[in-house]
Order: sequence, then structure tokens, then C-alpha cells
Amino acid sequence: MKRALLVIDYTNDFVAENGALTCGEPGRNIEDRITDRIQEFAEHKEEIFFMIDAHKQNDPFHPETALFPPHNIIGTSGRELYGKVKQVYDHYEAEDFVHYLDKTRYSAFAGTPLDLLLKERGITEVHLAGVCTDICVLHTAVDAYNLGYPITVHQNAVASFNQTGHDWAISHFETTLGAAIK
Ligand code: ZN
Repeated sequence: MKRALLVIDYTNDFVAENGALTCGEPGRNIEDRITDRIQEFAEHKEEIFFMIDAHKQNDPFHPETALFPPHNIIGTSGRELYGKVKQVYDHYEAEDFVHYLDKTRYSAFAGTPLDLLLKERGITEVHLAGVCTDICVLHTAVDAYNLGYPITVHQNAVASFNQTGHDWAISHFETTLGAAIK
């Protein structure tokens, strides 16, 4: 088993107190746990993918424009990684095993080269961390399942503004997607 860590949408807009679409305190509470996972993978030079939402302002063709306030607009501080996760990313940014990919849909696999990059590197297992548990982490997990990747979800390194949705998603990962919950 060769594993990769996917760090999903841990940006100011999704996590900071004044973020445009913030998960609030649950999102900020996982900062250290996500940082620990990144450090753990980095120490062994295991692949780490930062998968980050990228939007244009008021994009009339994007379905999220009608669903959510503007968020993670390209070129804004809202799209920058949050807190210690930004610090640890900045530290390891130049390493070959660290990747930063824009995504435009909930799933990290939708419209991105993530699957190709994982396959090229012989990755056979994906580990998930980030926000929100029941939106972008969920959709990424569903696609990983459909592509045949065994999944591990670090339950203390994912969070949502919606506790009911978070709990449901953790159960779904385990019982329906066969994920290991760590
Ligand atoms: Zn979005």
C-alpha cells in the first residue's frame, strides 16, 4: 500500500472566523490535527495533495453561484490556506511530494488531474483531511470509492458547520464506502 494525503479546502474562507463560507469553530478546532497529519506524511516523503476550491467572482456558469455566497475567489486572501496549515505548506512547498491543485467542484477528482497523478505515483490508498466533512470531503470520498481507492478518513482532521451532516458523513464513509475511520 502506497498512500497519499488529500488536504481539502482548508482556506481562510472555509475556516477563519470572518471567512465567506466558514465552517466556524469546528473547522478551526482541527487545525493542529491536520498539521500533524501533514507532518507525519512529510517526514516519510509520502505524497500530499492540497486540493483547493477556485472560483471566479459571480461566475454565471457555475452552479455554486446560485447556492452559496462568493468564496475562494482566485487572487483573494480568502483562498489562502489557513493558519498552521499554511505555515506547514509554506515549509514543504518546494518538495516533490507536495502538490497544490485547484478544483472547481466539490470533489477533488472532478475536472482535476488528481487521479492521473495518483496513478503515476503508484498510490493505492487515499487519506482524507479538511472541510467540509459532508460536502467536499464527502464528494471526494465518493469519487475515490468509484475509482477503486481504499479510503482512510481522519475523523479528527475533518469538520463541518453542520454537526448532523458531519456525523452522517462519518457513518457513510465507514458503512457505505468501506473507509477506515482513524
Ligand atoms: Zn466552492
